[in-house]
Amino acid sequence: MKNKTCPALPILTGLWLALTLLFASVIPALAQDGYRVNVNKEFGFANGSEIRGDFSISLIGDESNIASVTFLIDGQELAVVSQAPFKTNFKTQTYPNGGHQLNAAVTFMDGTTQTVEAKRFMFLSADEERGSMSEILVPLLAVVFGLMVFGIGAQFLAGRGKPAGGPEPGTARSYGIAGGSICPRCKRPTPRHVFGFNLVVGKLDRCENCGKWSIMRAYPIDVLRAAEAAEFKVEQGDGLAPEKSEEEKLREMLDDSRYTKD
Ligand SMILES: [Zn+2]
Repeated sequence: MKNKTCPALPILTGLWLALTLLFASVIPALAQDGYRVNVNKEFGFANGSEIRGDFSISLIGDESNIASVTFLIDGQELAVVSQAPFKTNFKTQTYPNGGHQLNAAVTFMDGTTQTVEAKRFMFLSADEERGSMSEILVPLLAVVFGLMVFGIGAQFLAGRGKPAGGPEPGTARSYGIAGGSICPRCKRPTPRHVFGFNLVVGKLDRCENCGKWSIMRAYPIDVLRAAEAAEFKVEQGDGLAPEKSEEEKLREMLDDSRYTKD
């Protein structure tokens, strides 16, 4: 009689080993991590573990058997809280700049205690905060600026070669998500473009009628529709185009030379 080993045995043994290792490593970690401290910004600056300003530290975990929580900074008592929510506030400026450990000791109803795993933070000086902030802001501003340049470039390219004059007078334009405006130069309604350069008072955008750039603020749709209708009337000769003053004519000539090169 031959001694045959079951082919599944090595696989089962391997699986059992893997599971044992998994539980051996995960279960104690779970038990240890039953409680943890959470540090939140109330007012100030936080970039990962680099913080400066007013912060709160709170205990996360089952609160039912807790008698009190002692919050600690570098092992020194910060506050003892004996009522939920187990939370207290601190100012980083109260402490020397540099690395600090924040944690908590939990005292249970039965008198036993448990120390929560510490979290490390860098308390920044005012100068370091500015440095860290510019590390975040400078690339951000660069991206925003890049998008603006791209937007304006796209507008110029899109506008190039388009005959000035644009849509027929009286045409109902479709105003997209950027809305529509009345061109301050030709006084005709025009859609605003998503890529327009956003300024506080409006968008620096290109008129689809006269092709000129100006700051255009968004108008309500009924005003735009009325402007379309009025435009049609002017074309039909029903309305009167206002006579231009000498100053206006001069300014238009100047604008023309400034904005239209070709
Ligand atoms: Zn215009």
